[in-house]
Amino acid sequence: MFRFVKRGAIEYLEAEEISALGFVTHAFCTRQGGVSEGPFSDLNVGDRVGDREEDVRRNLALVGEAFSIREGRLMLMRQIHGNSIRVIDGDSPLPREAPECDGMITDRPGAALGIRTADCVPLFFVDRARRVIGAAHAGWRGVALGMAARMVDALRERFSSRNEDILAVIGPAIGPCCYEVDAPVVAALSSRREAGSFLIPCPEKDRWMLDLALANRLQLLERGLREENIMSAGFCTACRQDLFFSHRAGRGRTGRQLNVLMLRT
Ligand SMILES: [Zn+2]
Repeated sequence: MFRFVKRGAIEYLEAEEISALGFVTHAFCTRQGGVSEGPFSDLNVGDRVGDREEDVRRNLALVGEAFSIREGRLMLMRQIHGNSIRVIDGDSPLPREAPECDGMITDRPGAALGIRTADCVPLFFVDRARRVIGAAHAGWRGVALGMAARMVDALRERFSSRNEDILAVIGPAIGPCCYEVDAPVVAALSSRREAGSFLIPCPEKDRWMLDLALANRLQLLERGLREENIMSAGFCTACRQDLFFSHRAGRGRTGRQLNVLMLRT
């Protein structure tokens, strides 16, 4: 179950199953509660979308205050629609600059993992037994590259996570109601198992509706996660521009919302 919660001016979505664990702070932030204006209104955290730098910095500071993230502990990524994963474990230093990757995993309390999205899927992972967290970004390229499956593999290989201990949350993303794709996208996805269930043909030729949340869910199930341990927010970012930024609906001129996950200290 998901619910909206407000901390200060920031309204965000949380999964009750994750909150109930008691050792994780997590939020799928809406666009509400920041200082940006125009197409970036209000809580834009994208630094390469045309918004004013000082507004983005202020928004990140507001998020830090709201979720008690210490200065320098919010780790953002230079997301490139790839499938590389950065693991920060033991005593490895926290990256000072946003690393080029689309997934991060850590067992370090106080290190906040941030994913910036505007239609793509933010994925959260929590190993409730070993107390390890992961955050990833998976749009259609991420699905094609097996990003969700690679996150599960990395948890198993680096932290000996067991499938039954891993909770996964699929955050707000563009839904199959609004995400029309063309033949090149379909070609990239068609080799994935059960592609026929997340690609729905449109009446017009060479057009399909893509269900990104389902594509990611199927990948997690295929890797052995339990159905009841995969939660999906179900909000469409394009339908709900009052709540979220949508790259597609905003025709490219829009902000990015922050999705943040942290082990409490
Ligand atoms: Zn929609």
